[in-house]
Amino acid sequence: MADINANPLFNRVLVVDDQPECLRLHEEILTKVGYEVFTADSAKAAIEISLATAPNFLITDWMMPEMDGLELCQYMRGANLPNYLYMIIVTVRTGANDVVEGLAAGADEFLRKPVDRAELVARMRSGERLLRMEQCLRENARRDALTGLPSRRAFNEDAEREFQRARRYRSPLSCVVMDVDHFKRINDVHGHGVGDAVLCRLGEALRTSRRNSDLVCRYGGEEFCALLPETGEEAAAGWTERVRRTIHRLEIPVDDLLLRVSASFGVAELLDDCRSVSQLFDAADQSLLVAKQSGRNRVVCYKSLVTQGTISNISPNQEDPFAGVTAENVMSTLVASLNTTDTLQHAAEFFLRFRVNAAPVVDGRGKLVGVLSEKDVMTKMASAEGWDMVIGEAMNANVVCYSKETPVRVIHDFLCRVAIRRVIIVDQGYPLGIIGRGTLLGWYQNWLAIRRPKAEKEDASHRITTREGFAATADAISHQAKTIRQRINRDNDEFVPTLIDGATRIQELVKDLLVATRWYAGQEAQTPGN
Ligand code: GH3
Ligand code: MG
Ligand code: MG
Repeated sequence: MADINANPLFNRVLVVDDQPECLRLHEEILTKVGYEVFTADSAKAAIEISLATAPNFLITDWMMPEMDGLELCQYMRGANLPNYLYMIIVTVRTGANDVVEGLAAGADEFLRKPVDRAELVARMRSGERLLRMEQCLRENARRDALTGLPSRRAFNEDAEREFQRARRYRSPLSCVVMDVDHFKRINDVHGHGVGDAVLCRLGEALRTSRRNSDLVCRYGGEEFCALLPETGEEAAAGWTERVRRTIHRLEIPVDDLLLRVSASFGVAELLDDCRSVSQLFDAADQSLLVAKQSGRNRVVCYKSLVTQGTISNISPNQEDPFAGVTAENVMSTLVASLNTTDTLQHAAEFFLRFRVNAAPVVDGRGKLVGVLSEKDVMTKMASAEGWDMVIGEAMNANVVCYSKETPVRVIHDFLCRVAIRRVIIVDQGYPLGIIGRGTLLGWYQNWLAIRRPKAEKEDASHRITTREGFAATADAISHQAKTIRQRINRDNDEFVPTLIDGATRIQELVKDLLVATRWYAGQEAQTPGN
């Protein structure tokens, strides 16, 4: 029980009465026992003062001109105050009906006028118990019980403020999402108690790594999130890399074991087109996904997924297969794109007809908005909506695109690093082509095929061997065409599968020929005398 002689924990009191002598009396009683008292001679003045002083208690007279005490209570209960306001009505009206009416208006307590000193103080201390409980609940809701870090809810509230501030002052802001790697295994092998202990230790590591201005929270499960004000993506990546190393080096004592864990991180900074905190979080989350898919225990930045030219800068070299080759030279040209409003059934037919395993998805204006793969269709096809689901709902909006001038080396390095299988080549937001791992492998095979004869025949000029390569490819096309022709001529023969098969091979050969020719044309242009 609260000691009524101790100084109050919640000490700001706003007293409202239109009679000055009542105000003075209440002020005197309360000040004596340690309260900080603000006074108002009308309900209207009280509302204004409460905004500036955020009181814990309101003691109001009932009968006042203009707005009475009940109306004031009603107003205060409906207002969005930062904390609970304990309200006491002091009045000569103390009939049963009056009490019911007062409590219904939102008051917590009733006191008879004129007030008895001891009773007023005792009522205040009883109100304090409720305020303490409310504060405790409020704090619990803002704190994660296991790690003691702020909860997702608290984080979201504070993050919103940081977001608005960064927008207003055009200052940088970065978001980091962290997910423990293979955490389920720790639970499975050592039990949930050990899993909990590991999460606590990781929470501690994050808490001690952050600066005072950084917000760090447990976002849920084995995911943590940090918001770094005044920090651009590069600096955020530096901080995150240090945290990653710290976590990887931790030896967490559990029973007689020393456990080691790793975590993956996604980093994103607030960009001009980002409209909300949740968009910023999504960008970091997408980067985290790439970090997971590309091997875990690493930091991936959002910019590295969407900007070109950041991955490697190799100097042009004759022996470098990618020297001077741009995305446009290598990409498979698009036959068509899918539309967000088309159905999955349409997409499946599209994949089968064009013999591709993924396609860009465009909006009504033809601009790239996502990518849909055979796998996306397969995973959704057995669901309730299945075939009729629109592509917009099944596609992956996290599409990585490059401009057609991008050196193909950059795309190669990217596809080597991440789990994403393909990138889309765009021109001002409109998709032009697609480069997948298969495209690059095929291209490299071509490149080798063209060069091999040169190495074998030392005296043959590069130009001749290239021509031989072209001739061989042209012969192969012609051979395929003849086979098709013969098949079509045969009576009663089921020629369609052969036709499709042959035509596909021709398609591939023509594509190879085109790629090699583009490359050859580039070489010719560089040869002196041409
Ligand atoms: P990945 O590397 O892909 O992130 O693999 P993972 O095993 O970490 O991810 P997954 O999402 O499969 O498993 C997360 C596990 O985290 C499953 C869940 O039981 C566990 N988990 C979530 N919250 C808690 C918690 O508070 N305590 C414990 N002990 N385990 C938790
Ligand atoms: Mg997870
Ligand atoms: Mg995990």
